Amino acid sequence: MRIGVPQETARGERRVALVPDTVGRLVKAGADVLVQRGAGAAAFFADADYERAGARLADTAAAVLGQAEVVVKVRRPSLDEAGLVQPGAVVLGLLAPSAAPSRDVLAKLAERGASALAMELVPRTTRAQSMDALSSQATVAGYQAVLLGATHLAKLLPMLTTAAGTLAPAKVFILGAGVAGLQAIATARRLGGVVSAFDVRPVVREQVQSLGATFVAAEAAETAAAEGQGGYAKELADEQQRRVLAAVGGHIKDIDLVVTTAQVPGRPAPRLITEEMVASMRPGSVIVDLAAETGGNCALTRLDETVVARGVTILGPGNLPSTVPLHASQMYSRNLQTVLQHVTKDGQIVLDAADDIVGPMLVVHEGKVRN
Ligand code: NAD
Repeated sequence: MRIGVPQETARGERRVALVPDTVGRLVKAGADVLVQRGAGAAAFFADADYERAGARLADTAAAVLGQAEVVVKVRRPSLDEAGLVQPGAVVLGLLAPSAAPSRDVLAKLAERGASALAMELVPRTTRAQSMDALSSQATVAGYQAVLLGATHLAKLLPMLTTAAGTLAPAKVFILGAGVAGLQAIATARRLGGVVSAFDVRPVVREQVQSLGATFVAAEAAETAAAEGQGGYAKELADEQQRRVLAAVGGHIKDIDLVVTTAQVPGRPAPRLITEEMVASMRPGSVIVDLAAETGGNCALTRLDETVVARGVTILGPGNLPSTVPLHASQMYSRNLQTVLQHVTKDGQIVLDAADDIVGPMLVVHEGKVRN
């Protein structure tokens, strides 16, 4: 099986789909891996490391795509790249299948007679956990959001007792305690912040508490009890939303650093922080909104911009995993390797649409766009 790793072309993307360590494992298992020169450079993986791991290098994306039976990507290929994919090849990546610009790319892959597996559609089951790229990348994002917030904060996070006086610890509030939120809680605790969290799924209360944070507004969470299919949250009804906003509004005015991660699959991000709530916060406080790409949890968030309103800094970073490219790539690469192992039978890729992991991920199959 020939696996191709082209360089990522999405603006600002620094991750690479396969790191040399994973390449080595795949080569040992009998694969022929072809890497575009410089593909790992932005994540600090040198061409020489890929060669040492047993990969061959190619000068251009066209050379990689023209030979690969399996194309591994971090982000969706461009339309031009999709046009170079070989008939019968399989493309794996975070293809953003429900985003509008993906339609043409998936159609192009279908037209080429290729297949495509969307890494964000790995089912969130225990069996598929090691393939779950949404979780691995959300882990990186949650960690990095706290560090980003801390560097913009006018305060230190830990309590410090020094000859120059005692500093009270900063108060950190995490909204949405899924994968990114739980990692944000753990990171803020390690930095010495006093951490509280809220989620509309009451089941996360124990997980929040086990990380040493306080679960706030438990009553609003119990009333909402918005756990839907697959462990994800559901959109709230108006009355539930009103209660959540009242609970969040009552708590937020005393907070120094807020990290929001709330998402509802397939819907715009729930609006949890209003302009009035921002105005109630102390100048020098910071909000890091990880839901910026889906519209933001805060009314004032702008994607990839820094907004300062009444002295409160609001950050809406779009692709935080890419800012920690080495470890984010390492984790993503392992996710890809596990998917590849799952679909490989006797050295050949077999895409079984009836398989409970492959089926949901298979967005293009046998010349047709599915899902
Ligand atoms: P996500 O990114 O879709 O959402 C992040 C968080 O926002 C979720 O915890 C959600 O409940 C919360 N949220 C949504 N609306 C909200 C609102 N109005 N107010 C406050 N919080 C709100 O979710 P995710 O982090 O990708 O995963 C969610 C859950 O999926 C996990 O906690 C887990 O239960 C499940 N999961 C399972 C596995 C597995 O078993 N392999 C892997 C990953 C996730």
